[in-house]
Amino acid sequence: MIASRAFANRTVAVFGLARTGLGAVRSLVAGGTHVIAWDDSSTARDLGGQEGAELMPWREWPWEKISALVLSPGVPLTHPAPHGVVVHANQAKVPVIGDVELFAREIRPDSKEVGANAPGKAPVIAITGTNGKSTTTALVGHILKSCGFDAQIGGNIGNSVLELSLPSAKTIYVLEMSSFQIDLAPGLRPDITLLSNLSPDHIDRHGSMDQYAAIKARLLKQTAPGGQMVIGVDDDYSAAIFTQLSAAAKNKAVAQAYPVSVGKVLGRGLFVVDGALYDALAGRAHKVMEMADASHLPGVHNWQNAALAYGAVKPFISDTRQIIAAIASFPGLAHRMEDVGHIGKASFINDSKATNADATARALAVYPDIFWIAGGKPKEGGIESLISFFPRIRKAYLIGEAAPLFARTLDGKAQYEMSGTLDKAVEAAARDAIASAAPAPVVLLSPACASYDQFQDFEQRGDAFRAAVAKLPRDLKAAS
Ligand code: ADP
Repeated sequence: MIASRAFANRTVAVFGLARTGLGAVRSLVAGGTHVIAWDDSSTARDLGGQEGAELMPWREWPWEKISALVLSPGVPLTHPAPHGVVVHANQAKVPVIGDVELFAREIRPDSKEVGANAPGKAPVIAITGTNGKSTTTALVGHILKSCGFDAQIGGNIGNSVLELSLPSAKTIYVLEMSSFQIDLAPGLRPDITLLSNLSPDHIDRHGSMDQYAAIKARLLKQTAPGGQMVIGVDDDYSAAIFTQLSAAAKNKAVAQAYPVSVGKVLGRGLFVVDGALYDALAGRAHKVMEMADASHLPGVHNWQNAALAYGAVKPFISDTRQIIAAIASFPGLAHRMEDVGHIGKASFINDSKATNADATARALAVYPDIFWIAGGKPKEGGIESLISFFPRIRKAYLIGEAAPLFARTLDGKAQYEMSGTLDKAVEAAARDAIASAAPAPVVLLSPACASYDQFQDFEQRGDAFRAAVAKLPRDLKAAS
């Protein structure tokens, strides 16, 4: 745990007592801060109280005594409208920050202000973007650990940043940053900042796509002088950000910007063409590896993640062979095109994290003969954008609230059945896949929907898929 001493002997208010809020309370209390806290849920409040916070409804907070408000990233800061607690903080001119800001004030990679009893410095790699953040963060962590570093991974993935360990000589912090966390961490100065891609997401919480892109760009601009920005340039918004920042980077005092593309050969940067990763960071391109050697990073989207991760670790690891071996041995993340079993020639793939059509498109692009389990709580636009992939779908098995909507889109274009529940869908899809003439059929859970109608979250849905596959009779062919 990292004790936050920036507000020692003062009072800080914490609003929202989930994972990051509780981490903030613990860290602030350990650093000698008086913490006032509140959460609308009494269970969350009890946990905050156990960590040493004084519980008080936020409308009663003594703003004149409060030095900062630590806000949970789930609470609206600006859109659709600032939460009342934010309005009060703004009126009282109390800064509104997040747990990552507290972390940044303790671990200052670029600062000369580290005090005598400061815990020390360690490099920070920060990762953001619309899709691929978690995969890239986990991959960067895996490569660093494989090469002997103490990679401390947290932020929007796994641990809250304040839960991480104090730095040793071998520590590198690897932080996944959501746009909400960026908004609350103006003092974070990463040594390396990655932007994977940008497409519309959470627009209700940011006001507009331009505003959302501007927040992501802000994290890049916070990169420490002498640091590096590694930016996917395959979508228009990210490409525009790269152009803007690389022009600024002509001034040597700021961080350098490197582009990453899957599909385009670049004069400088990193790119994947014809399934191979090329390094042109120093100008002249040389081939690094065949992406097919990284069996748990299937699909062009994962090649983008791999190229970004390579760019992140390159300044720390001079032996490229070690990086290649680590990319190839990455075990993948659960619920993202995760191979959960085989019966005969059929594979079972859990892509429960694909909660929108864009993410599902990545999975449908990878496999030629798909027995597709889809549905759940529908998202805007449904699966209209996936029609070009329908020739790959041998049959769809529809579940949850979205089933009638998806059936209308599939009608006349691909076979489907209304399975209702995930268990029924797995049984039917397995039976059909194994009996099919396809040489390598895939039973794919890639719902293109949120899970909340039938499950608590995408993890529980993916676990239910894995359990249903494990229950299938191994001699299914004979049984069918
Ligand atoms: P995030 O943490 O940004 O949500 P994940 O790594 O958890 O990203 O992946 C979420 C979903 O997005 C996965 O189901 C995957 O299919 C898709 N995805 C992963 N990486 C990319 C990428 N680079 N571009 C587009 N989609 C991606």
